[in-house]
Amino acid sequence: MRAELLGEIRRLRSRGITPGLAAVLVGDNAASTTYVRMKGKACDEAGLYHETIRLKPETTEAELLELIERLNADHKIHGILVQLPLPKHIDAQRVLHRVTPAKDVDGFHPENVGKVSIGDPTGFRPATPYGVQQLLVKSEIDTKGQHAVIVGRSTIVGRPMAALLLQDGPGGNATVTVCHSRTRDIKSVTRLADILIVAIGKPEFVTGDMIKPGAVVIDVGVNRVDDPSTKKGYRLVGDVQFAEAKQVAGAITPVPGGVGPMTITMLLYNTVQAARQWAKV
Ligand code: NAP
Repeated sequence: MRAELLGEIRRLRSRGITPGLAAVLVGDNAASTTYVRMKGKACDEAGLYHETIRLKPETTEAELLELIERLNADHKIHGILVQLPLPKHIDAQRVLHRVTPAKDVDGFHPENVGKVSIGDPTGFRPATPYGVQQLLVKSEIDTKGQHAVIVGRSTIVGRPMAALLLQDGPGGNATVTVCHSRTRDIKSVTRLADILIVAIGKPEFVTGDMIKPGAVVIDVGVNRVDDPSTKKGYRLVGDVQFAEAKQVAGAITPVPGGVGPMTITMLLYNTVQAARQWAKV
């Protein structure tokens, strides 16, 4: 998909348009720093212009809002990404809503949430569920008429995932069930899934017995668990018990790998979409 995108970026650049992404990072959260670095590297490889703006943890909300306004008006920048989580003293919603919808490549502004919900293709689809959908499409896993069960109802993953799978088109037309922490007897629901998508942030929560034999399992979770045998002292695991699940599943995504790289790819796609819509080409 990144190779496909290279052609599109070359076409835009030949017309004098270089899609640009600004990433804003407040504080020094280790995982966030890594994510932002990976996004910058992906932009470089794809030939996108990018800026990473690193702010001190004590940055005030007013200062951050001022920066967003500056980026909203900056013609080199077509996409703005505010890396979450933000420090506690900053109202994340207020900041995300200040990003102009035309540059909201994360798809968190209510205007884009609404557009995605009604299937308006000019809306920006949040990168993680968009990546999951494309992963299914490119793997030729037909979602039409399938029962997709999503575990997790966050605004970043679970809810937009449901909206995308419900749409009438490729990677859509599924019958969708969404589970959350108050779902009763969750195993009886997950076992009904032809496609099981898990995004809860609980290490190895989904075990083999929760999966219908042959189901497609997409593990969105990224969790650090202590592991003294590694150099870093931890390792990354998903929300699914991979070793057990892969014995039962028809197809499964690994962690790390799988959804993570797709998320970054779709962020690049959204930035290119933003540049195209801005230039009206
Ligand atoms: P979140 O905002 O914390 O939401 C978690 C959701 O899981 C909530 O809806 C919660 O239900 C539900 N939940 C928690 N415990 C549950 C349980 N025992 N049974 C059923 N549902 C339960 O998390 P998120 O931002 O969506 O992220 C989820 C995971 O995906 C995390 O590990 C995160 O690191 C990972 N992630 C990965 C990527 C990527 O690119 N690979 C991107 C985004 C997120 P309630 O609403 O009832 O509380």
